[in-house]
Amino acid sequence: MATATSPSSLEALRGVIPLIGLTGGIGSGKSAVAKRLAQLGAAVIDTDLIAHRITANQGLAIPAIAAHFGQDFIAADGSLDRAKMRALVFSDPVARKQLEEITHPLIRAETLGDALAAYQKGAIYLVFVVPLLLESGNWRSVLDHLIVVDCLPEEQIERVMRRSKLSRTEVEQIMASQASRSERLNAADTVIENHAGLEELELQVDTLHQKLLKIRGRFSNSA
Ligand code: ATP
Repeated sequence: MATATSPSSLEALRGVIPLIGLTGGIGSGKSAVAKRLAQLGAAVIDTDLIAHRITANQGLAIPAIAAHFGQDFIAADGSLDRAKMRALVFSDPVARKQLEEITHPLIRAETLGDALAAYQKGAIYLVFVVPLLLESGNWRSVLDHLIVVDCLPEEQIERVMRRSKLSRTEVEQIMASQASRSERLNAADTVIENHAGLEELELQVDTLHQKLLKIRGRFSNSA
């Protein structure tokens, strides 16, 4: 389930700590970049992981999903039946909207909660991993810096097929529903080119981290 959250509640943290966005198309390498940033000390808040958390067994969204869509959409282990829900929302825009009306407010609240907790624990900057950042309205306006992970469409398809059970057609459908590559590149402050191996990716992220530390240095409350 892709996440498209509105971050208006993050306004409270603007000017207090650098708010960094990280986006890219499906399979572009967002998680790989986030993982390296976390190793370097960044506080990473991944809205996809939050979406999974609220739809896991005993997740915050499960009661409302069961009430609205029926127990059929809840798997035996108590989590959302993702394959079944994916099939429904791809063919039914009304169902997609209803699912989003349940999940998005919860994702927003959890995102803010995680951000505040990271700030209180002394984070140097906050990185929000948001797959549909450009598609979801006003994220761009609250961010101090936007990182876009880019690769060739064919690389995206190969990586996602290798990692998941999705077919080429399914991956292409998801890609078609996302912002275009040029829209993402136009919005970026920093583009991470993820064409080579993971080692080369880490070198780029190390340079990026230095840049983000400089942004941190411009904040009055920085150490
Ligand atoms: P999604 O949008 O589906 O969550 P993502 O943008 O977070 O994907 P990753 O999960 O980081 O992308 O990468 C997709 C897959 O490709 C993973 O299996 C990852 O290990 C692999 N991958 C990413 N970058 C590289 C690379 N430079 N070289 C080799 N494999 C890579």
